[in-house]
Amino acid sequence: HGRNSEQRSCWYQSGWDEKHLRRLHLFREFETSLNAGHISLYYQPKINLEQPDTLGAEALVRWHHPELGFISPDEFIGVIESSGQITILTRWALKTAIAHLRQLLDEQIKITCSVNLSALDLLVDELPAYVAELLQSQRVPAENLVLEITESAIMREADKCLNNLRRLRDLGLTLSIDDFGTGYSSLSQLKKLPVSELKIDKSFILNLDSSEDDQLIVRSTIELGHTLGLSVTAEGVESEAIKTLLKHYGCDTAQGYLYSKPLPAAEFIRWVHTYLI
Ligand code: C2E
Ligand code: CA
Ligand code: CA
Ligand code: CA
Repeated sequence: HGRNSEQRSCWYQSGWDEKHLRRLHLFREFETSLNAGHISLYYQPKINLEQPDTLGAEALVRWHHPELGFISPDEFIGVIESSGQITILTRWALKTAIAHLRQLLDEQIKITCSVNLSALDLLVDELPAYVAELLQSQRVPAENLVLEITESAIMREADKCLNNLRRLRDLGLTLSIDDFGTGYSSLSQLKKLPVSELKIDKSFILNLDSSEDDQLIVRSTIELGHTLGLSVTAEGVESEAIKTLLKHYGCDTAQGYLYSKPLPAAEFIRWVHTYLI
């Protein structure tokens, strides 16, 4: 005790302050950045392993701040979730992705687009109506839209979430469980959800060619998904060897740097044109 612990607690205190200030800064800058066009959606292809010309894309948010530089979604999504601003981001992402979908469909590109939802979005009862309105105004068929939700999102206020999920599914869009394997959802819960896709988290995929444990987990997850009538996607596919393994296991779709990193919309459209030749 004495001086030493005082110094230590002082150090902890200032460490906490710095982190807190950074969060405060991001929270204050978020809406200004969104309105200034410093936040954009990038797209990463999702490839059907049996029919490689059947394409999907996942929309991933990117924040390039003029002074703070690149801010990772892993850092700022949590901040705007705590502040409640996530609803603003989600609405913007849905609007932007659906407009880009319209553009792709106009170029005769058959593609689905996935948008990430946060746990809090599922508590907003207006979400299904908002999505329906966007699809209608952009004349985008609901079957071209996929919404990705995490397991943990559904754990909280399960009844309310389930109700909103059913209303979304009834619009005709696809619901996908993201980061599968990292949460705690039970199988009986999984069976009750109106989802049709399961995405295996990249932590199980990145070392698939060398880890026997991951091979076991991935194989049984694919089997489980198929037993429940779900399509299975693997994310974080970085090599040809891993893709071959996944195909061998009967995995339906692959996404990862092997095909492309996430790209700005215009570059993604060029990527698609080159890929489909
Ligand atoms: P996620 O939804 O699980 O997205 C997959 C992450 O893996 C993305 O990170 C993507 O860039 C990265 N990735 C893709 N292929 C590979 C690969 O081959 N190897 C490796 N190592 N990584 C790969 P990103 O873009 O940094 O996003 C991180 C997380 O932030 C996302 O994880 C998602 O949870 C969240 N996020 C991103 N955009 C949005 C958004 O618009 N709304 C919400 N609510 N969350 C978002
Ligand atoms: Ca996702
Ligand atoms: Ca994921
Ligand atoms: Ca993730």
